[in-house]
Amino acid sequence: MTSNWTKSDWRAKPRIQMPDYTDAAALAKVEEQLAAYPPLVFAGEARRLKAELGRAARGEAFLLQGGDCAESFAEFSADTIRDTFKVMLQMAVVLTYGAKVPVVKVGRMAGQFAKPRSAPTEVKDGVELPSYRGDIINDLPFTPEARIPNPDKMLQAYTQAAATLNLLRAFSTGGFADIHRVHSWTTGFAEEDKAAAYRDLSNRIADALDFMAAAGVHADEIESLETVDFYTSHEALLLEYEEALCRIDSTSGLPVAGSGHMIWIGDRTRQPDGAHVEFCRGVQNPIGLKCGPTTTPEDLKVLMNKLNPENEEGRLTLIARFGAGKVAEHLPRLIETVKAEGANVLWVCDAMHGNTVKSESGFKTRPFERVLSEVREFFACHREAGTVPGGVHFEMTGKDVTECTGGVRAVSDEDLSLRYHTACDPRLNASQSLELAFLVAEELSA
Ligand code: PEP
Ligand code: MN
Repeated sequence: MTSNWTKSDWRAKPRIQMPDYTDAAALAKVEEQLAAYPPLVFAGEARRLKAELGRAARGEAFLLQGGDCAESFAEFSADTIRDTFKVMLQMAVVLTYGAKVPVVKVGRMAGQFAKPRSAPTEVKDGVELPSYRGDIINDLPFTPEARIPNPDKMLQAYTQAAATLNLLRAFSTGGFADIHRVHSWTTGFAEEDKAAAYRDLSNRIADALDFMAAAGVHADEIESLETVDFYTSHEALLLEYEEALCRIDSTSGLPVAGSGHMIWIGDRTRQPDGAHVEFCRGVQNPIGLKCGPTTTPEDLKVLMNKLNPENEEGRLTLIARFGAGKVAEHLPRLIETVKAEGANVLWVCDAMHGNTVKSESGFKTRPFERVLSEVREFFACHREAGTVPGGVHFEMTGKDVTECTGGVRAVSDEDLSLRYHTACDPRLNASQSLELAFLVAEELSA
C-alpha cells in the first residue's frame, strides 16, 4: 500500500484538535508503555470487517454503527455495555427483516474517548478554561486542574477499552446473542407499540427456527445463528494513542491500528494534508471519513485517492452528516464525484451531527423528527442516483436517558433535565433507537 509510510509521519503534519501535553517525559513514558501492551484488536478481524463493509457497499449487507458520543470513565459498567449491545441486537433484527440482508454491527465503543470541540476554550461566568476533550485527555469539571491534559489517562482508556472488548466478545459468542434468545434482548424501556412490534417479529423468527428444526435443520449445527460478529470503532483523534497501538500484521507485514477494528476521521480533522489523514492512510483497517456541508468534491477526490489508492472494497466508508433539510443540497455532488472517480465506497448516514440544536431549556438536544428526516433524505438521494444507501450511524445508548426530544414517548423540552447523562452530544435512548430501526427498516423495504 503505502510503502514509505511510518506510524509517526503524522508528527510532521499540521495537527488540530489535539492536546498540547506539557510534561513531555510523562507523555513519552505512557507511549512506551502502550506500545508494549497487546493490541486490542487483531488484523484478521479488521480484514473480516473490511470484507463485510465491501458487501454493504454493494447492497448485500447493511451497516449499523452506534454507541455513545463519547465513552466516559464514570459511566463505565457491565450493565451499560450490555444495554447498548442489546439494543443494537434488537435494531439489527429489525433491520435484517427490513433489508433482507445481514446487518454488520459496529459499536462506537471500546475506544471512543476523545472529542473534537468547536472551540479550544470554554468561558463560564467570565472565567476561560481549556475545553473538555474527552476522558482520554482531560476531565469534565470546570476547574483549571481538571482541564490540564494528562497522558496517564490514555492508560485508563486502554484498560477500559480492553475490558469492554472482553465483555463484548463474551456477549457475542457466549450464548447471549444466540438468535433463539431473540425475545430476551428487550430492555424494558421500549414504548408499548414498538415493544409489541418487536415481540411480533421475535415470534416470527421463533416460528422460522421451529420450522427449520422440524425440517431437520438443527440450529446447533449452524454456528452463525448462535453467535454474532460485533466490531468496535472510534474517531482516531488522539494520534499519540493511535500510534502507540499501531502494530505490524504478521500475515501481510503491513501496519494496522490495534486500537479498534474501524477508525474514522472527523469532520473537523479531514484536511487532506493534515496529521489525521496522514496517520489513517497508512493503516490497513477500514477507515471512515465524515462528510459535511463543507466537504468539496475536490477535497473528496484527493481524500479518496489518499485513503484508498488501490480502490479496495470495504476500505473506505463515507459517513454523510449534513443535517435534516440539507442532504439534497450537498449529497448529490459528492455522489457524482464518487461515480466519476469510479471509487468503491460505502455510503452511511450519520443522522446525528448535523441535527444538534439548543433547546429552550438550554440543553443541547436532537429532535427525533430531524434525525429521521435526515435518514429519509439520505435514502431518497441514493434512490435518485441509483446508488446504495449502505448503513446508518447513530449516537445512542441502551439506557432510558432523556437527551433527544421526540419519539413515540415524546420526550419534551421540559423532560430533558430528568435524565440528561451525556457529557458530550445527546444520544437516542433505547426506545427511540428501536423506533428508528423500525422506520429505517421501512425505508429499506420500500
Ligand atoms: C462524532 O462522531 O462524535 C463527531 C464529532 O462527528 P463529526 O466529526 O461528524 O462532527
Ligand atoms: Mn458526537
